[in-house]
Amino acid sequence: MQPELFPALIQQVRAIYGDGFIPLHRPVFEGNERQYLVDCIDSNFVSSVGAKVTEFEERIAAFTGAKYAVATVNGTAALHVALQLAGVQRGDEVLSQALTFIATCNALTYAGAEPVFIDVDRDTLGLSPEALRRWLTANADVREGQAYNRTTGKRIAACVPMHTFGFPLRIAEVVAVCDEYGIPVVEDAAESLGSYVGSQHTGTFGKLATLSFNGNKVITTGGGGMIITDDEVLARRAKHLTTTAKVPHPYEFVHDEVGYNYRLPNLNAALGCAQMERLPEMLAIKAEVARRYADFFEGSGIRFVQPIEGTTANWWLNAIVLEDEAARDALLEYTNAQGVMTRPIWRLMSRLEMFKHCQHDGLENSHWLEARVVNLPSSVPDGAMAAFPHVAGGA
Ligand SMILES: *Cc1c(COP(=O)(O)O)cnc(C)c1O
Repeated sequence: MQPELFPALIQQVRAIYGDGFIPLHRPVFEGNERQYLVDCIDSNFVSSVGAKVTEFEERIAAFTGAKYAVATVNGTAALHVALQLAGVQRGDEVLSQALTFIATCNALTYAGAEPVFIDVDRDTLGLSPEALRRWLTANADVREGQAYNRTTGKRIAACVPMHTFGFPLRIAEVVAVCDEYGIPVVEDAAESLGSYVGSQHTGTFGKLATLSFNGNKVITTGGGGMIITDDEVLARRAKHLTTTAKVPHPYEFVHDEVGYNYRLPNLNAALGCAQMERLPEMLAIKAEVARRYADFFEGSGIRFVQPIEGTTANWWLNAIVLEDEAARDALLEYTNAQGVMTRPIWRLMSRLEMFKHCQHDGLENSHWLEARVVNLPSSVPDGAMAAFPHVAGGA
């Protein structure tokens, strides 16, 4: 990107977001958030039991089309438990992306597994089905329906693809490759609430998927997460494991395995219910912001990342791909000095101290993108929600 274009970009961002410091992504609370929080306090149900948790789970299930949804305290906890439910055990390996947020790798480490890093596609920024097939063909054997790594002898227990910034990856193809090897897929859909492949919501392709409602995500519960699945047995197990594995009983405390206190408090769920009521409007506004960026970059020679054909993005974080690392750094420097927050994509997991010994496939596209991708401010702009008449309890 020519430095001559930098002031014009600042002008474009300010045309969308106005004056002052512009954060990358901030939450909006312009619906029933306050009311539902007050309801919780008035009812005395603020903690891990309460009607809002169930309502929030039902709303997420209805929105995504997943049969079951189990709320958790955050997205990392959701992924930890989902991996355990997919069968991941201590000493296993899990195929994933080096181009992801740290939570993905933290969760699979908590589950006792080691990541093997597979490359992403340059267009989707997500796991590449071709790279996956290439690596499995060269490195995996199937014995009694289970895949093993020929080099380490370890079991390959799961695959965790991640829909980066809400751009759907080629998930059906990834699942098809994994099916051939008997590898369950757990989708890290933390960033992709509201993103679809055709008319099917991301996170409903694998055996299980997880969402996040951290403060910077499309909707927030302050902190929170969700496990979604179509499998009733797994859903029951998810609820059991995330609620200390207590055997239901009116007064006795008996637990039948080592579970977790990963429950989402009712207060946080109340926030989530109010946010879900406004999600369709938020997605429409975010798509409009993206359209304005797309118009700006049209003909500039800079690639504004778009969802691939047949998919719909939630436009969680808008992203551009610069010519090289120097161009990226120049843009980051300029925009942040101007009070417009931009940031590079994550440092590759394969370059972090904890994971640099892990096996990988060369990660050519991951390295290429790491040096070039920049996120632009992507919040719902102030006042934009007012354009949508709000029907209480709607959506
Ligand atoms: C946000 C996020 C998570 C979950 O994060 P929490 O902060 O624990 O909710 C997991 N994976 C990815 C890729 C994320 O962006």
